Amino acid sequence: MELDLLALAAHRDDVEQTCGGTLLRMAGQGARTGILDLTAGEMGTRGTAQERAREAARAAKLLQVSWRGNLELPDGGLEMRQEYLHAIAAVLRKLRPRVLLVPFPQARHPDHAMAGKLGYRAAFLAGLKRLKLPGGEEAFRPRTVLYASLYARRAPSLIVDISEQFETRMRALEAYGSQYADQPAGKRIFPAAAEVRPRVEALARYFGMLAGVRYGEPFISPTPLAAREPRDLDYDTFTQGGIITPF
Ligand SMILES: [Zn+2]
Repeated sequence: MELDLLALAAHRDDVEQTCGGTLLRMAGQGARTGILDLTAGEMGTRGTAQERAREAARAAKLLQVSWRGNLELPDGGLEMRQEYLHAIAAVLRKLRPRVLLVPFPQARHPDHAMAGKLGYRAAFLAGLKRLKLPGGEEAFRPRTVLYASLYARRAPSLIVDISEQFETRMRALEAYGSQYADQPAGKRIFPAAAEVRPRVEALARYFGMLAGVRYGEPFISPTPLAAREPRDLDYDTFTQGGIITPF
């Protein structure tokens, strides 16, 4: 199967938080999208890996992805290792996504940061013709790599309007009952269930405001975004919520 766009992340439910609306929007336009989770979440404080697998399948359906896979690399133990890079690169050669979304490479959770670094590097390696990988697929490199930067305190390079997709993305996140349902008071390290929606909504509204739309998802490009057709630039400097980007 070949994809137009693949989102890679450390854990099941990461993509649902950071770029699920973009996946859904692209699927709605007929694109073939996919999700590659690097770990099975066996170290998660809540829920078993099996529960999370079932939840991930439900979320994938809501987000209308054509493919979802899991490399079962060690949860809590992602590191820059050649075998991990090659495993990711082999998936990229098989799926041939034109666009690859990876987590921003600085994050509170070390797995999230490492997933971003592994994804970027694997995308480069996948394009090396002389590198032989399991599966024997032809060399292939995604044309575009973008960092999903929802939790990064950095100015985004672009914001995707997910106003139409926000509610479904919210349902995809809520599909993870093991992560977001309430737990006994006093043991809370996760937000109470009632807190989840306002938090998710506040971030989506903030980035939406930056783009002059209701809800948005932010991305950072490792390189400047080139406009081949500058006349098609679609933003209005003076109606974007009054927040400016610092230089
Ligand atoms: Zn995570």
